[in-house]
Amino acid sequence: MAEGPKTEYKIILIGDPNVGKTSYFLRVRDGNFVETEELRSTILSGVEYLKYEMTIDDCKILVHLHDTGGGERFRTLTSNFYRHANAAILMFSVEDRFTFENLQEWYENASEALPDIDNFVWGVLGNKIDLPLEVDEESVDIKCENIGTKLKFYTSAKTGEMVKESLEEVIREVHKQSMARRATGHGMDTFRPSGVKITSTPGSSTNKSKCC
Ligand code: GDP
Ligand code: MG
Repeated sequence: MAEGPKTEYKIILIGDPNVGKTSYFLRVRDGNFVETEELRSTILSGVEYLKYEMTIDDCKILVHLHDTGGGERFRTLTSNFYRHANAAILMFSVEDRFTFENLQEWYENASEALPDIDNFVWGVLGNKIDLPLEVDEESVDIKCENIGTKLKFYTSAKTGEMVKESLEEVIREVHKQSMARRATGHGMDTFRPSGVKITSTPGSSTNKSKCC
C-alpha cells in the first residue's frame, strides 16, 4: 500500500527554567535521562525540535515537538517559536511552587503570541514527581479549570514515568479537535516543517483516508 501524506502538528514546551523541559524532550527523543546541563547542551548542540510519529485510527501523525532552547531564561522566545503551534505543554516542577505560580504568566504570554488561540490545545504538566510534592493537586485542578483544559499530567523525566503517555494524550486531543473542525467544515490545519500552514477542506481529497 502506498504511503499517504502525514498529518503534521506542532507542539511546544513552555515554562520556567529548570522545570525539566529539556529533560522531558530528551526522554521522548532518546528514552533516557541526562543529568547535567553541560551534557544536555552537548547532546543537543542546537537541536530544538524532534519529530515524533504515532498512528491514530489509521492516520499517520507526525509531531514536531519544540523545546525552548533555553530562550525562556532571558524571556526571549521568538514569535517563530509560537508560529503554527497547535498545542502547548505548560510545564512546572512539582517540587517548586514558584514554577507553578508562574504558569499563569506563561499562559498569558503564549496566548498573546499565538495567532489562533481558538483552535489551540493546552496541557498542564507537573514534572519531577520522583521528588517531594510541594504543589497541591487541588491548585493544579483549579488552574486546569481556569485554562479550560482537561489535559493534566504528572511526570518524571528522570524515571520516564508518564512522559510518552502525556505527549501522546496531547497529540490525541490535537488530532481529535482537528478532525472535528474538518467534519464541521472549518478545514483541518496542519503544521508543515517549511512553516507553511496547509488547510484542506472536506471533500477536497479523493483519498479514502479520513485524515490525510
Ligand atoms: P529546563 O530548564 O526546563 O529545560 O530543565 P532541564 O531539563 O534542564 O532540567 C533542570 C534540572 O532538573 C536538571 O538538573 C535536571 O537533571 C533536573 N530534572 C529534570 N527533570 C527531572 C525529573 O523528572 N526529576 C528530577 N529529580 N530531576 C529532574
Ligand atoms: Mg532547557
